[in-house]
Amino acid sequence: MKKISIVIPVYNEEGNIQKLVEEIWSNVPDRFSYELIFINDGSTDKTEKIIENICSNDDRIKLLNFTKNYGHEIAMSAGMDIAQGDSVIFMDGDLQHPPSLLPKLISEWESGVKIVLTKRVNNADKSLFYSVCASFYYKILNYLCEHDMKTNTPDFRLIDRYYIEILKKFKESSRLFRGLLYIINAESDTETIEFVAPKRYSGKTKYNFFKLMNLAIDSILAFSIRPLRIALFFSITLFFLSILFGLYFLLEWFFYGNDAPGFMTLLLTITILGSSNLFVLSVIGEYIGRIHMESKNRPLYTIKSAVNLNG
Ligand code: UDP
Ligand code: MG
Repeated sequence: MKKISIVIPVYNEEGNIQKLVEEIWSNVPDRFSYELIFINDGSTDKTEKIIENICSNDDRIKLLNFTKNYGHEIAMSAGMDIAQGDSVIFMDGDLQHPPSLLPKLISEWESGVKIVLTKRVNNADKSLFYSVCASFYYKILNYLCEHDMKTNTPDFRLIDRYYIEILKKFKESSRLFRGLLYIINAESDTETIEFVAPKRYSGKTKYNFFKLMNLAIDSILAFSIRPLRIALFFSITLFFLSILFGLYFLLEWFFYGNDAPGFMTLLLTITILGSSNLFVLSVIGEYIGRIHMESKNRPLYTIKSAVNLNG
């Protein structure tokens, strides 16, 4: 009998676990065996206790506790590392990825599709502002990375063992999981199914505006060095503009005897050049910082304890 792993990163989801597990078990087809892997990403509420309790009654449910909060992306990677199934399904722990869609994901896989992605046709939880920012972010990301990543494709997906083994070879610590699929270019093996995302069952989103901004910058810098090229073009443009600027004042003086206006010209030149310098330096700095962090080769995550995961 083939086995399917379901990986669920959770961070302070105490109000969702019980309902989620019930819904998963009542939806998955019984022609497969299952393991349900919770990655507890440093929760500070009762999440760990609740999952431990469920684990003690059902050894198909497994729990890996991180020592601290590493973030959703790293939690998914940890799940991928320990999953033993012939395919792995990733889903959120707040019931926004409806378990009722599991039979569809699984039947696509049975029919030979190796990567089954999902696409939200709405998002009951997100504001218009969020949607506008998200589509702007994807435009920038796609331009910089020369990919065609789609908006509204959450991390709710099924990936066959074949691609899991490929994805496990990516070792970088700053990662956007969904972006890795574009890097390996698995489009011909991919199907996408649409769904309507309900509101969170319980609790609040863990992504505030600043966390999302950080994730956006991290993912852009993790996937592209184009910002460096843009900084180079920016500097070249500024260089030619300053030559034109200089020529203009030289000709004004030569033909009309006008001296360049003093204070404002000087002030503008200093501030424009100063801020451009800082801009280019900070782009370089962001990359150097990442080289520094990656070169330490630290483990992606550290484990505090595990339940039902011996062997
Ligand atoms: N999550 C996590 N670590 C974090 C933040 C979130 O494991 O640092 C989990 C969270 O518990 C949930 C999933 O990632 O299962 C998606 O998070 P959330 O629902 O807050 O994101 P949203 O749906 O609002 O984008
Ligand atoms: Mg959510």
